[in-house]
Amino acid sequence: KQFKDGLEKSRKGFVEKVADLVIRRKKIDEEFFEELEEILIGADVGVNTVLQLIDDLRGEVKKRKIEDAAELQPVLSEKIRDLLRGDEDNSLHLNPNGTTVILFVGVNGVGKTTTIGKLAHHFKQQGKKVIMAAGDTFRAGAIEQLEVWGQRVGVEVIKQQAGSDPAAVMFDALQAAKQRGADILLCDTAGRLQNKSNLMEELNKIYRVIQREIPDAPHEVLMVLDATTGQNALSQAKLFGEKSGVTGLVLTKLDGTAKGGIVVAIRQELSIPVKLVGLGEKMEDLQEFDSEQFVHGLFS
Ligand code: GDP
Repeated sequence: KQFKDGLEKSRKGFVEKVADLVIRRKKIDEEFFEELEEILIGADVGVNTVLQLIDDLRGEVKKRKIEDAAELQPVLSEKIRDLLRGDEDNSLHLNPNGTTVILFVGVNGVGKTTTIGKLAHHFKQQGKKVIMAAGDTFRAGAIEQLEVWGQRVGVEVIKQQAGSDPAAVMFDALQAAKQRGADILLCDTAGRLQNKSNLMEELNKIYRVIQREIPDAPHEVLMVLDATTGQNALSQAKLFGEKSGVTGLVLTKLDGTAKGGIVVAIRQELSIPVKLVGLGEKMEDLQEFDSEQFVHGLFS
């Protein structure tokens, strides 16, 4: 899915509400701003960001002497575009001389396995040699689920038994990557986010194993977040993201929520870039995050 299809629910639940408001109220007054504020908060844009946005809009209304509510809609999309735009790098960092190692962390159910499968497909389509490592040895069924994706996209999965040491799986996977000359190694982890010290302990052990083989790896540590959980996703990222070496966020299930405003909130409140977005359950439904395409998908 492309941004336009994937963002249909957000377009209906958020942008069309703004359009209705504009038609209904016609005039820009206090009540107009109050209702607009409610819509934006309802779309999970985040209270602080909404207050800022409303303030900016008031300023623009004054400056441009806007009276008709309809004229404000393009200004709103422009402001949201400004909030999303940044000089940070949204693209995945790949290793130019050898295997690129990408680690995934995230709580159960956010779409971690699915994202790994989709990304394996994406790289395979580009003609790259991909290996997946079943490092989530903790969750029942995680290994089998990754194997299903492996078969689906035609990518080898390195695994051990359930309950085994994820660092040992990673060691095997690195050996396999070396032997086969793999371009990309995608590593699932249990990433136990219930507890920060557990997560750090597990990640540090994995980092050590990886760095013994490839000193500048992992090249990306992606934290997977479920967009349908809205502000919860944001607090997970705040709590665990910034100090655990996370280099990018993956926001899944954007197709399943009307609250696409969460992307704006994350962009405003975190210094970690959103690198990928999930726009459906199929293997093609993963896109690199692009603020222009996002705003375009939302507003048109
Ligand atoms: P994990 O426990 O984090 O590995 O989560 P899974 O990969 O098993 O995903 C949990 C559920 O979310 C599955 O039913 C997936 O099909 C679904 N899912 C994952 N990503 C997306 C997405 O971008 N859009 C939609 N609609 N569903 C998704």
